[in-house]
Amino acid sequence: MNIIKRSRLWAVAILVAAAVSQAQNFQSPVDFNPRVLLKDPKLPQLKVILTNSTILKVKNTWDPNDTSVDGTPMPREYCSIKAYMTDTNAGLVILEPTTYELQEFHFHWPSEHTVSGQHTRMEVHFVFADRSKVPGEANSLLVVGAWIEEGKRDNSEFAKIFSMLPLPATYQMVTNFNLSRVFPQTKSTFRYPGSLTAPASLPPYTASLKEQIDSDIFPAIVSWFVSDQPLKLSDSQIQAFEALFPGGNARHTFPLPARTVRTDVKPHGHGQGDDDSQD
Ligand SMILES: [Zn+2]
Repeated sequence: MNIIKRSRLWAVAILVAAAVSQAQNFQSPVDFNPRVLLKDPKLPQLKVILTNSTILKVKNTWDPNDTSVDGTPMPREYCSIKAYMTDTNAGLVILEPTTYELQEFHFHWPSEHTVSGQHTRMEVHFVFADRSKVPGEANSLLVVGAWIEEGKRDNSEFAKIFSMLPLPATYQMVTNFNLSRVFPQTKSTFRYPGSLTAPASLPPYTASLKEQIDSDIFPAIVSWFVSDQPLKLSDSQIQAFEALFPGGNARHTFPLPARTVRTDVKPHGHGQGDDDSQD
């Protein structure tokens, strides 16, 4: 091997190592507490465009016959109920100058993000992709998350999904779904750069699913926007979800060594206004 080839290999090795150590410091979820929050009342607002009637393909991604992790199934703790858009224009968010399109939304229990160590019963993630980037590229995803708390009544829009949650490795089609009735408000949010909270094969991110699980480092490609206004599901809706994922499907939180969380949430913040108005 000549010296140029060898130094090029070293350069690649150093780049890969840098990407891994970078990814290590940018994992999700995280805990929001006063030590990590950087207040900024003038954060640029997301422009949200949602359709009132769309068709969802709602899939239970846990598949006991799956062989994607070196011949074994993806562990159930990394699976969920995912509602995939069948229309790429069903949901858009614009954070100037970039437009992101809604790919799917899915659920976790308990919540993945915490506030001063406290979980809520569930959390929903609306996953948007930058149309101009390839899936595994840095900043290719923008995820709008919201905590879900227990409300007194069934959430009637989410009931279109939760009244017939698909069994493992199956899906249901849901018609006439109104995204604007369930999408969280994004006027006051917690924002930080982070990762997926489940492993994924997304070239050019090269680590295999097995390597990702063993290292506990998932693709760090997400701009996170977590709303401070929780959504609501009834106790029976939450229990129907929990029954499909015994033991939960939330990843543990990570420290924020090189990051701050920017927020325009007012000091009274999370947990106010408990009036069940969302259903
Ligand atoms: Zn998620």
